Amino acid sequence: MAVHGPTQQPAPTIDPADSDYGSDLDNDAWDAIFSQPPESQPTIIPQLKIEESVVEEPILPDDAEPQTHSLRLARIRENLEAAIRDLDGVAGELEQKREQHKVEIEYEREEEFFAAVEVEEVKATSVEPESVIDTRSPLERFRTKPKKPLSVTDLVSPAWCELQYWYSLTKYGRVRRTPAMKQGSKIHKEKEMEVHTEVPVEIATKEDRLGLRLWNIIQGLRTLRTTGLTRELEVLGVVEGEVVVGIIDEVSYYCPDYEMEQSILEAAETARNGGKKQQASLPPDQRTMNDFFPGGGSTSQNLWLGTLHQPPKTLYLVDIKTRNSKTLPKSGSQMRPTQMQLMLYRRLLHALAANEVDAEKIFERYDLEPQKPFSDVFIAGMGSIDFSASQHSDEPMASDPDPVEEILSYNTLSSLWAHMIAEFARTISVTPLSSSISPLLTAEFRAASDGAVIGRRSFAFEEGVIKGYVKDEMRWWRGERETKGVDVEEAFKCGICEFSEGCEWRVGKVEEARVRARERGMGMRRGRGKI
Ligand code: SF4
Repeated sequence: MAVHGPTQQPAPTIDPADSDYGSDLDNDAWDAIFSQPPESQPTIIPQLKIEESVVEEPILPDDAEPQTHSLRLARIRENLEAAIRDLDGVAGELEQKREQHKVEIEYEREEEFFAAVEVEEVKATSVEPESVIDTRSPLERFRTKPKKPLSVTDLVSPAWCELQYWYSLTKYGRVRRTPAMKQGSKIHKEKEMEVHTEVPVEIATKEDRLGLRLWNIIQGLRTLRTTGLTRELEVLGVVEGEVVVGIIDEVSYYCPDYEMEQSILEAAETARNGGKKQQASLPPDQRTMNDFFPGGGSTSQNLWLGTLHQPPKTLYLVDIKTRNSKTLPKSGSQMRPTQMQLMLYRRLLHALAANEVDAEKIFERYDLEPQKPFSDVFIAGMGSIDFSASQHSDEPMASDPDPVEEILSYNTLSSLWAHMIAEFARTISVTPLSSSISPLLTAEFRAASDGAVIGRRSFAFEEGVIKGYVKDEMRWWRGERETKGVDVEEAFKCGICEFSEGCEWRVGKVEEARVRARERGMGMRRGRGKI
């Protein structure tokens, strides 16, 4: 495959979509991979465009902006029915695609090998060294009061390239919103509006603002129990001592991949039974087959038997990603930020359901008074809303609560938080042994142009992986270690990075390779007796 575009020397054959490329590179290849365009074209970076499996930076929209001006209620109308039909329809459609894929695989491989390579142009952003060195940690500089707290996006974006995220923060204060991100937000909003309607609510205090967010979580959980599907569900938690917020795209009772879920559960059961196929990284809250089929011992499902409640159904987390290309990203490093994102969502959701989140820490982070009553204007606004669309009681003996009475009963952050935790307990079953949140996590890829589904990638939640990742990332946020760029195996990311020109890490890698090549040359000459 030829690589066109300005390079300092002939480049090696590169398939930028191949995540394990470069594992055995020599110094010359390394040099060429990290090399930048010549001085004559300082603002243009060549970007490889390959017909199949195009590399794209994952779009991780800023999820730290929860709904603070309106209350979301379930949409019990034709749009919701369409959304639910869509979940079933997509599964069938993807199954068909899988069948076609099996037949066409040989032709596709051939096309991939002979795919034409075009060169696209992306605008480069120069990286100016800071005139005054700021010694504060990223956390102190960008996510300390009165600035907003850390978001899931803050923790998972560096999984693509930590240095790139650092450049974005220092240059723009956040990841710059590109047309692709704006288009992605539009598609997310359309999907959200399929299941919710929004009713504007006036707020007067900081406490009202968080209060409205908690009410939206409560309504989101009720929508899930009533309809089997909710979207844009906010989660708040404390990770490594820091408050972290995020918004889960989709939580539903619809399993996106039964086969994969089955194999994850079987692996978990083998591990738990001390079988030979031990899976060290499976989560401690992993459900077993017994959780799905009653009569198998003291599991979460059985603990619910004998109460008036129906046992909570299994929940599935899905994140919707929009892409310009019509192909799925390859697994490996291209999927890493998305995998970390979904694993972190599951961890935050589990902590809320298990009532493990220190609410005081959250109130303190936002400088709020938990015992201060909400403002009259907020209570009056909330009291005038008809909750009946999403109000649903799954307790046969109880009647649905009166909305006005409910608003008045939980008129402080402290009492409303407890009310929200009770709502989680009604929706998600968590015991020390299991959880009704499936370990099967799914990314659904949609075309940025029209929102059509491209395909899905599912994977298993791995407690050890997300724990280790978050621990290491928090060390960076706290300034306890240096910022890292990409490894040589992921050098293809530099080719589509707006900060490529002047990136210290990339320039350093090129220099390292030059020094090694020089030393190797001298060694060879010495061997031939010429020095
Ligand atoms: S050029 Fe490469 S190492 Fe530098 S910020 Fe961009 S992706 Fe990261």
